[in-house]
Amino acid sequence: MRVAVLGAGVIGLSVAWRCARRGMEVTVHDPAPARAAANVAAGMLAPVTELHAGEEALLALNLESARRWPSFAAELAGDAGCDPGYVTCGTVAVARDLDDLRVLDDLHAQQVGLGLQVERLSGREVRRREPALAPSARGGLFVGGDHQVDNRRLLSALRRAAGARAVGMVTTSPEDPPAMRALDADAVVVAAGWRSPALVPGLAVRPVKGQVLRLRSDGRSVLPAHVVRGLDVYVVPRGDEVVVGATVEDVGEDLTVRAGAVHDLLHDAADLVPGVAEAELVECGVGLRPATPDNAPLIGALDERTVVATGHYRNGILLAPVTADAVAELLVSGEAPDVVAPFRPERPAVRR
Ligand SMILES: Cc1cc2nc3c(=O)[nH]c(=O)nc-3n(C[C@H](O)[C@H](O)[C@H](O)COP(=O)(O)OP(=O)(O)OC[C@H]3O[C@@H](n4cnc5c(N)ncnc54)[C@H](O)[C@@H]3O)c2cc1C
Repeated sequence: MRVAVLGAGVIGLSVAWRCARRGMEVTVHDPAPARAAANVAAGMLAPVTELHAGEEALLALNLESARRWPSFAAELAGDAGCDPGYVTCGTVAVARDLDDLRVLDDLHAQQVGLGLQVERLSGREVRRREPALAPSARGGLFVGGDHQVDNRRLLSALRRAAGARAVGMVTTSPEDPPAMRALDADAVVVAAGWRSPALVPGLAVRPVKGQVLRLRSDGRSVLPAHVVRGLDVYVVPRGDEVVVGATVEDVGEDLTVRAGAVHDLLHDAADLVPGVAEAELVECGVGLRPATPDNAPLIGALDERTVVATGHYRNGILLAPVTADAVAELLVSGEAPDVVAPFRPERPAVRR
């Protein structure tokens, strides 16, 4: 089967690589791969701390994808011949005051009710668990099973693994993208992130802006060993750097880095982890998450030739393994696996 994948973000590349592993002849088309959201994403693989009320179906998908990550990463390393940067680091969610504590206690009750593994820690315990935290930390939650992946090493490994499986890469013209019908392929996978509606009019996907910072330790600043999450900010350790993020702004296609956002992120992060204020600010970035009306992805067939894999919003990196496997299975067997059944692109919740 000849498959054209539209989009070389984390979803398109993962789909292309997994389909090629199953014997398909795959070509990826993208006018601007450097714009993909995963270039700036934090790379947290954190289904338990990412839990939001009312998103239980999404939780099941997130957990299933997290379960697949170890073998996905190992097979990727094998095909790419390099390490995609998948590590266990655990997450501490931190309360700075009594209001934060109430929010964390609600989250904890919800997590326990769903049978998730999470520890409630006192202020002293959370500071002992993560010594980079400010002395003012009032309490927190610890999720030891959370992982993270280095977003840029992951993208590079996916490109190399796809190349090793003979996936073709075509840089299309942004002004003149090929018409879907004109693509010489038996199946077309639309994985163009928030721009997917330009290819399939009516898809309910929109951009949600995220601004993010990278800071480097000069050896004197104490930075965390775990992912640290406050209510408004997170700090993700990445070698000798940390990623501080992220704003969530429903403002359309805006790629401007705003001084106020940088200020707020630094202020909130330094409040949680004082060492942030001593670190070198090396990068301010911005990305556009592909969001849907119910915050869950669109994965499935639209017609006999067209499959959609987009709308992964806050969790596209976490969800790459389960999405890619589901699309490959759908193309091979004609049936989408049960795990993605609630996320079909024509479900009522996402109809425009
Ligand atoms: C600040 C920030 C932090 C994040 N942190 C995390 C995190 O910690 N964990 C996590 O799991 N997720 C995180 N995310 C979300 C994650 O990055 C996204 O969900 C994911 O990258 C979406 O991938 P995608 O491939 O669907 O879309 P995109 O990354 O948007 O890629 C789509 C690609 O399609 C291309 N394209 C556009 N138009 C066309 C066309 N006409 N034809 C062909 N190609 C086209 C684009 O150029 C682009 O390369 C974060 C996102 C942001 C912005």
